[in-house]
Amino acid sequence: MLEDYQLLRIPGPTPVPPSVQRAMLQPMIGHRDQETKDLLTRIQSPLKAIFGTELDVFIIAGSGTAALEAAVVNTVEAKEEVLVLVTGTFGDRFAKICEANHIAVHRYETKWGNALNTKKIRDYLAENPSITAVFATYCETSTGVLNPIQELAQEIKKVSDALLIVDGVSCVGAVETKMDEWGIDVLITGSQKALMLPPGLSFIAASPKAWQRIARIKQHRFYFDLRKYHDSLQQDSTPFTPAISLLYGLEQSLHLIEKEGLPSIYSRHQLMKDMTRAAFRSLRIPLLTNDADASPTVTAIKPTSFQPDMLRHILKKEFGLVVAGGQNKLKGKIFRIGHMGYCHPADILQIISCIELGLRKMGQNIALGSGTKAAQQVYLKYFQGDEDDI
Ligand SMILES: *Cc1c(COP(=O)(O)O)cnc(C)c1O
Repeated sequence: MLEDYQLLRIPGPTPVPPSVQRAMLQPMIGHRDQETKDLLTRIQSPLKAIFGTELDVFIIAGSGTAALEAAVVNTVEAKEEVLVLVTGTFGDRFAKICEANHIAVHRYETKWGNALNTKKIRDYLAENPSITAVFATYCETSTGVLNPIQELAQEIKKVSDALLIVDGVSCVGAVETKMDEWGIDVLITGSQKALMLPPGLSFIAASPKAWQRIARIKQHRFYFDLRKYHDSLQQDSTPFTPAISLLYGLEQSLHLIEKEGLPSIYSRHQLMKDMTRAAFRSLRIPLLTNDADASPTVTAIKPTSFQPDMLRHILKKEFGLVVAGGQNKLKGKIFRIGHMGYCHPADILQIISCIELGLRKMGQNIALGSGTKAAQQVYLKYFQGDEDDI
């Protein structure tokens, strides 16, 4: 069938809206000219809203990991003790970045598929007073878990002065994030997830408490030196050539986000999560995480009666529908549906309905339409309040 048809539903990269795609086609401008300064200025305020901060948000040309590495090398020195909370692959990545920089890592690992337990982390910090920074993942993309960052920040502050550094790459812009109010010291996100852009930009903001360390520590850094980004931003500029085309796209995606409004965006993601989960429940296919821990941006499914990778193969071949497999420990054991950014409840109905067909093609004994119906019912219930108004 149609050769170029694709339904990309992995948890990043995510589909790019047509108007964002068009914005990126604008001709190149001088990176030190007023046009670029104006562009950078227009971007700042909507970016701050997404981070829930009054602080500057720095933009680094690089994938999400660039800002993760920037967070590490700007806040901790070699041999210093840090706590890395590992709830899946991305927590593990934070630990590896620290280890590569000769930082003394305490790995605190939670069973993959569960959210972290903030009280236990508080106790661990109380017993290990030399820890100076805590690294956490907001949405653990590899398991579809949303970690309780607000609660974590509160618990840490009860016993420790450590910085809280949060990887929000797969959810900032799709779930409520209040960097300043919650007391996050460093927050990171990337372009190719909830921000509806291609890969290539990463974002980072740092609290005044984090800046005390950034200004003073001796760790080697050049491209990722946040002091350079800070000084340049005072002049509405960047220390190195910015990814201008992506910035044009970002301006448009931020415009779309402002028009829809953050509260509506957050509830759209909740709805898509609830529709997806209801569908698999109805099909009697187990979910990896429980309701309380589940992320609004990605859902992990852990089937017991078939190979997830075989289903993925059929979906890709039949419908051009791309869903993600498992990573690391969960390789071959789960599949993951990304429903963040440019994703509508109508997409969920399409995904579920294609998956039902895929399951039947695999010989699974499921009732066609039962998952779709469950998702439709969640949708109707969600808007019942509105109907009463009409
Ligand atoms: C996607 C992602 C990243 C960044 O990965 P890159 O491949 O470097 O863009 C980091 N953390 C989380 C939680 C992610 O989902």
